[in-house]
This record gives sequence, C-alpha cells and structure tokens, in this order.
Amino acid sequence: MKMLASMAALAAALVVSPAMAQQRTAPSAADANAFLDKAEKAMFDQSLIQNRADWINATYISDDSDALAAWFGAIRTRMTVDYALEAAKFAEAKGLSEETKRRLLMLRTALTLPASTTPGAADELNALSTKLQSEYGRGKGTLRGQPINGSDIEAAMGTSRNPDELKEMWVSWHDNVGAPMRKDYSRLVSIANAGAKELGFADTGAMWRSRYDMPADDFATLTDRIWAEVKPLYDELHCYTRTKLNEKYGDAVQPDKGPIRADLLGNMWAQEWGNIYDIVAPQGVGDLGYDIGDLLTARGYDPVKMVKAGEGFYSSLGFTPLPQTFWDRSQIVKPRDRDVVCHASAWDLDNKDDIRIKMCTKVNSDDFVTIHHELGHNYYQRAYQNHPYLYLDGANDGFHEAIGDFVALSITPDYLVKIGLLDPAKVPGADKDMGLLLRQAMDKVAFLPFGLLIDKWRWGVFDGSIPESRYEQAWDGLRRQYQGIVPPVSRDETKFDAGAKFHIPGNTPYTRYFLARVLQFQFFEAACRQAGWKGPLHRCSFYGNKAVGRKLDAMLEMGASKPWPDALQAFTGQRDMSGKAMLAYFAPLQKWLKDQNKGKSCGW
Ligand SMILES: [Zn+2]
Repeated sequence: MKMLASMAALAAALVVSPAMAQQRTAPSAADANAFLDKAEKAMFDQSLIQNRADWINATYISDDSDALAAWFGAIRTRMTVDYALEAAKFAEAKGLSEETKRRLLMLRTALTLPASTTPGAADELNALSTKLQSEYGRGKGTLRGQPINGSDIEAAMGTSRNPDELKEMWVSWHDNVGAPMRKDYSRLVSIANAGAKELGFADTGAMWRSRYDMPADDFATLTDRIWAEVKPLYDELHCYTRTKLNEKYGDAVQPDKGPIRADLLGNMWAQEWGNIYDIVAPQGVGDLGYDIGDLLTARGYDPVKMVKAGEGFYSSLGFTPLPQTFWDRSQIVKPRDRDVVCHASAWDLDNKDDIRIKMCTKVNSDDFVTIHHELGHNYYQRAYQNHPYLYLDGANDGFHEAIGDFVALSITPDYLVKIGLLDPAKVPGADKDMGLLLRQAMDKVAFLPFGLLIDKWRWGVFDGSIPESRYEQAWDGLRRQYQGIVPPVSRDETKFDAGAKFHIPGNTPYTRYFLARVLQFQFFEAACRQAGWKGPLHRCSFYGNKAVGRKLDAMLEMGASKPWPDALQAFTGQRDMSGKAMLAYFAPLQKWLKDQNKGKSCGW
C-alpha cells in the first residue's frame, strides 16, 4: 500500500540537501528532472521495507511491530519533508516541462500537514497532531449517565429510537471530545499554515486544493458546481425524511418544517442516514425478499469462496486472475491467536504483483460487498504498476475509493443470478425499486453535503476567513446551510463540534469522499452505457462484458500519470466530474420523492 505521509513533519525538515543550500544560480530543468528521478527511486525503495513493516504491524499487533512500523514511518516522513522542500525550490527553475511541473507539485503537496522550518515548529506540530488524535481515540460520551466509548456510542446512535437518549449521546460526545481540542487545533492551524507558505502556497487549504490538476480556486468552484447539480435530489430526500421523523416523534421533537434535529438521523454526524431506513421505508416495498448473507450460507460459501467470487467479477471483465501470492499472503479471516487490525484494506507490498487484502471476513452481505470494493483497489494498483513511483496512485484521491464503490454498486440482483447465487424466480420485481433506491440514497445522497462541508469549514479556517472566535458559529452555519440540520441543543463558542468528527483532529482531507460518491456513479453509468443496458440504471449488470473491462483497464492503467480529466475520459468519455450520472441513477426515486412531498413545505 502506498501511503503518503499524513503525519506532521519532523525536525528533519531542517536537513535540506547541502547541494541546494550552496547553489547560487537558479537550478536548470535538467537538475529538476535528475532530482525527481533520484527522489522517486529513493521513495520506491523505502516503500518496499515500509510496506512490509506496516503489513506485519497490521496483521500481528505487538510492541515490537509497533516499534518497527513507527521507525520506518519516521524515515518516510523525513524523506517526504525533505523532498517537498527541495521540490519547492526546483519549482522556480526555468524551462520546466508540464510533466516536470506536475511531478514537482506532487512532491510539494505530499504532506498533509507541513511544519515550517522554524526551530521547534515540526516537533510542536507533531506533538499537537498526536495529542489530538489520541484524545479523539480515548473520547467518551455518556448513555443513561454511564460512560460509553467511541465505537459503542456510534453503534448506539444507529439503533436507539429514544430522542432523550439520542440527545444525551450527541451532546455528551460533542462536549467531551470536541470542546477541549479548540486551543490545540487553532495552534496546529497556524503552524501548518506557516509550513504551507514555505512550500509556496497561500495556506494549507490552498495546498490541499492544489492536488487536482487545476488552480486551487477552480477546484473549489468545481465542487460547488457538482453540489448545485445534486442539491435538488438532496432537498427531496431531506423533506421526505423530515416528514417521516415528524410522524415518528411528533412536533415537539421534530417539527415538519425547518431543519432536522441532527441526532435523529441514525449517525453521530448525520452523515449517512441508512441506519434509520426502518423509519422511512415505504410500506410493503422496503423488503427485498432476499439477503445475500443467507444466499451465501445456503450455497455453502466460506470467506475464501467469497473472495473467489469477487475475483470472478473482475475475471469476467477480462482482468488477469489474482496471483498465487495473493491467496498465500492475504489475511482473509481473523487469525485465532493474535490481535490484528480488522478494518478492511487493500495492499500493494512491492508496487508490482504482491497485492493482498486484509479483512476479518464473515459470511454476510456487508463483507461480500466489501470484498468487491477492496479488490477494486488491488486491480487498480496492479494496473498502474509500470509507472514511476509518483504515478502509482489514483488519478486523483477520489478515484481509488470510487473504483471499489462502483464495483460494489454492480452487485445487483441480475449479477447475483449470473453467478448462481440468486434463483431467477426470486429477482425482486419493479415494485421493490423504490425500496432499493431509497436504501441506497439514505447513505449515498445524504452524505453529499456533509462530504462537502467538512473541508469548506477547514478551508475557511486555514485561509483565516473563519477565525478561532467563530469556529462553532461557522460550523453550525455550514451544517444548517448545506445539510439542513441543527444541533439538539444550542451551541456557543465554548464548544468545538468540528473536533468531534475524527477527520478534523485526524487531519485527513475530506473532499475525496465527496468526489468518490459522485465519481462512482459516473463510472457505473459509463459501464452500463457501454454494455448497452436498457433497463433502469440501478438494475444494470455488465458482468462478463470484456469491452467494458478493456475501457476500464485503460483508465486504471494510467494511474496518476496524466491529469485526472484524461483518465476519466479514457473510461467514460467525459472530462468533467459531474453529478449527472448520480441523478440519472436516482431519477425514479427523485420522482417518487417529489410525489410523496406534494403539499409539504420543503426546504429549511
Ligand atoms: Zn476503499
């Protein structure tokens, strides 16, 4: 797995190459290319040992494997910092080709949180970011007055239907976890901004937005445009969900007008609403009539056979089967005798053929979908293996996740019939379509404004338009404006609700998830169009279609070697990320929602 350093810079930031320090004249284009080749080779070689240390650490957790992974991780961070600073200097060289400029920019933007070279800054940034992350990890809320940890409270938010309990969990989590982080977060922002300036960016947010093959401001405009396309669909879903919540809880808890109370949507951050599908499910059409987990059990599938089925999907499109080492080295089931990281992931150990998945697979529907998703990462990794190191990545950071999700969207009833899991007589009729689509929309459509606003808030914090004195007000304002939700109790500037979402203290850029949600439908629509699918888009299967496979491979094979519009065009024929395919997928649902919402005063 290629991972770009997301940790804070270390003190090694100060060790700039002596050759550069002594240079009096501006470096030439040839110098820049020589530097890039040297950096790529060093990073490639380092990744080979780093990946192995990380793999052992994830599949055999111990003090020793922690120490080994941390040791190599620190080396990688130092390399990334050094190369980013050096790349910033070469960026001024005369006569650079577009490709050289692009490779230099990749190195300059490889760090998520750059520290300035001021003595002590890197250490302080590193300490702050570690502290914030572990505070989040240790965070607790309460339920009926008893402490409850992060993963348990998340699960309880999904299942509780008691508005007082939901409010208690929401408020305690946000008060306990977010509020204490405010000062540290503000300090972290100012150090990272100084680092970003040294690398030649206006601020850290501008640096994050510079990873998309276009000027930083144009990228912000692009995300706004995509949101404007899909907002009408979100508005209908919001309106319908609010009505159902009003019916369930009554006016005192959830009025039938205005914003929705954030804690009623089945998720701590109201980011995905699938957990309250039972509340919104339409009468009689909510149930599909089969469960993939039951089908797998009935046909005697074990975890390995499930992965073989996933491989079969890609083989049917013409992709070469997985190498024997995949089967020998992957962690497909949880080992009996040791601690491992069960969170599913896909790995590429040698940047070539040593691809693996790491899962604790159970025979159920979720894991069947996850297998298809993770293998998408593996086939992508293998497809782009022949490029230099900097290009061993998705076309932009939305692409990698979108590939896996796009393939997961392809697990339609038609596909299940083709692989012999579902009896053709049991294919749900068209009357089940709204149930199928609504269940998908509660997660995928509901997520869109949330996926957008996390970085809207952060971009504002980094560029200073949201000062520390307005952290809470700006956060609540964006949540209301984009998601149409409000906290269950009023908030003030002693709070810091943004900090109660992992990716803020964890410093993980978030727009990638927004892009992935949109892109997966563009990929899906393109595949179905190429396959000549005639029915409703959400029922489409292109299983076994080699022509689709060849086009998909043309995009995957490019990795990050070309600007993302070129990669997108290779598969879909389009050069722009857009919400139109998502709208086409959900068109029957949007029409149905409109009917349901008739006579209601939608909006907030
Ligand atoms: Zn993934």
